[in-house]
Amino acid sequence: MSKHTGGCHCGKITIKSDLEPMLVGRCNCARCRKLLGVVNVAAMFGEDEVEIQGETSVYEYTGGSGMPVKSHFCSTCGCRIFGKADSFPGMIAMVIGVFDKSLELKPKSEIFNNYKLPWLKDDGCIQERFEESAVEERLMMLLETLENR
Ligand SMILES: [Zn+2]
Ligand SMILES: [Zn+2]
Repeated sequence: MSKHTGGCHCGKITIKSDLEPMLVGRCNCARCRKLLGVVNVAAMFGEDEVEIQGETSVYEYTGGSGMPVKSHFCSTCGCRIFGKADSFPGMIAMVIGVFDKSLELKPKSEIFNNYKLPWLKDDGCIQERFEESAVEERLMMLLETLENR
């Protein structure tokens, strides 16, 4: 049985994975805020680690690193499914709202803290905060978590 299952609001896109994410992180940037409505909390997986069924539509933009990001969404219900950033080759960032067990996925780090909604709090789950995109720091965190997976 898959460890994680889920999908979009209308059910056209379904996802499953046998693994836990490498890292769950919150992004407070204004791009994500506009794309996702309030705040982006994403679970990072290797791109082969999540089975995605159903065809996603793609919107491409320039991410905080200055490199392209492809945001995959359902063209029927508009639900954001995952993002793929050129700054994180081979990885996908799954939007945690698509997971059936999204309550279990808590962010351990957050980026673009300078742009955070001032009322947004957490329950102490966030251990590392970065003011900007912190691509290198997050790559290091990913490598560290890979060993304890
Ligand atoms: Zn849908
Ligand atoms: Zn962002």
